[in-house]
Amino acid sequence: MKKIIIIGAGIAGLSAGIYARLNGFDTEIYEMHHTPGGECTGWKRRDYYFDGCIHWLVGTKPGTPLNAVWREVGALDASVPIILNDTFYTIDYHGQRINLYRDLDRLEGHLTEVSPADKQLITQFCRSIRALKPMSMPTEKPYDMMNALDMAKMAITMAPFAKHFSKYEKLSIGEFAAQFKSPALRRALTAVIPAQYKATSLAVTLASYANGDSGWPTGGSLALARRMEKKYLDLGGKISYKSRVDKILVENATAKGILLDSGQHHLGDFVISAADGYATIFEMLEGKYLSEQLQELYSNRQAYPTFTSVQVSLGIDGDLSQYPSSLDLALESSINSGGIDHKHLGLKHYCFDKTLMPAGKSVLTAVLHADFEWWKNKYDLGEAYLSEKERIAAEVIAVVKKHYPEAQDKIEVVDVATPMTYHRYCNAWRGAWMSFVTTPQSKIRFIPGKLPGLDRFYLSGQWTLPPGGLPTAVLTGRWTIQRICRAVKQRFKTN
Ligand SMILES: Cc1cc2nc3c(=O)[nH]c(=O)nc-3n(C[C@H](O)[C@H](O)[C@H](O)COP(=O)(O)OP(=O)(O)OC[C@H]3O[C@@H](n4cnc5c(N)ncnc54)[C@H](O)[C@@H]3O)c2cc1C
Repeated sequence: MKKIIIIGAGIAGLSAGIYARLNGFDTEIYEMHHTPGGECTGWKRRDYYFDGCIHWLVGTKPGTPLNAVWREVGALDASVPIILNDTFYTIDYHGQRINLYRDLDRLEGHLTEVSPADKQLITQFCRSIRALKPMSMPTEKPYDMMNALDMAKMAITMAPFAKHFSKYEKLSIGEFAAQFKSPALRRALTAVIPAQYKATSLAVTLASYANGDSGWPTGGSLALARRMEKKYLDLGGKISYKSRVDKILVENATAKGILLDSGQHHLGDFVISAADGYATIFEMLEGKYLSEQLQELYSNRQAYPTFTSVQVSLGIDGDLSQYPSSLDLALESSINSGGIDHKHLGLKHYCFDKTLMPAGKSVLTAVLHADFEWWKNKYDLGEAYLSEKERIAAEVIAVVKKHYPEAQDKIEVVDVATPMTYHRYCNAWRGAWMSFVTTPQSKIRFIPGKLPGLDRFYLSGQWTLPPGGLPTAVLTGRWTIQRICRAVKQRFKTN
């Protein structure tokens, strides 16, 4: 049996492990943390579970190609109810309410009512969303394994969407929103996904939502990761937690194994890194195997920015279920989160999933985009970091108390995660969650997973398929094993 060493037990690493076991490889995953899931995680504080990842999961809809993949890896099954809220997001723009409904006719009618002057743009946008509803990302095999026939088939499948897709490719969400006359609609369109992303991202996300996909798996992110961990272990895979990889061992331009920070080394026939891309390429491999494409991605930060954020999580001894679950609130005075002034605050309560907190209580989170360097400087100063966390929590709590009277004197638990949290716990480059933002300037969409001049080594995970996200993590794990199966001339199996 050939042995595959996998670095990282995030969703990509677990996916690679599961498919590797299904294809008869001996596998061991080395994970620096003590828990599976990587960025797909959550944490318990007293009676409350705070989710740190899933806002929407593409592939929850049965019958879609991605759903089949989630089922293959044991992340979703009949025992996991999927929760589909009718309203994706509610935007409170200085008292004016806008609801991004799942039902497209309702959405179109509502937006037109909010701003009759924008009727034409609203109609066009909703027409495109409607047309994009059946679109799904190709799951079958990685692009580098597609032959001319596969490419032709993909082109035919994608043809009906091309017109609607290309319309929004050259615009950022911010530029698209700026075409609207209503300030409330302009805000609504930039509230869900950061304004730098291509407008296509918003259209495709709303289309997936309108298609009855992009739901919430009951139990949340950590439970999903644990189901994948179980599937992997049940298949006979091994995981070593608290095992941080320092170096990938290379001999004669061939990956031979890994060196842990404990000084131990482990050898294998193949090495897959499903850890952070920067840490893999520039630290574990010391930047020796760079393609032009990778150089461009990691140096042109204007074309390929990344995002990170602060998450304030509150455990509240009160029931917030009467409020919209996801709310974007225009603030009377802005909140500063590490060098960035926020005039709006994104709040989310999780009362739709009763498994996360005791009856009658609520979990409420606020997410604010943040500057990694700013938080790193504070972290390096020690105390300043803790006092900043307290300050930002106090500012969020003040807003929460004002807008949710049930929270007055009822906040039992406060937790703050910063960009440094993602960096420290997931080794995430610049604290990034998701990978490179796909802006209208981004040309690179796909990284083949092989590095020039390095044999028997494969890159996997969100950094190989911008803009990242859980679907790309699970798919790239699968694709990596498809590549290895091809390398050893073995047919790829899924069960
Ligand atoms: C706040 C937030 C919200 C999000 N919302 C969504 C959402 O709604 N929908 C969605 O689809 N996605 C969402 N994402 C993105 C999603 O979580 C990621 O895209 C996905 O989890 C990435 O998976 P991955 O396996 O590629 O990488 P990671 O999760 O980064 O996994 C890498 C693993 O490698 C380990 N590792 C790193 N370095 C080493 C080393 N040297 N040695 C050993 N192990 C190492 C890490 O500890 C980690 O476990 C969100 C992320 C965050 C943080």
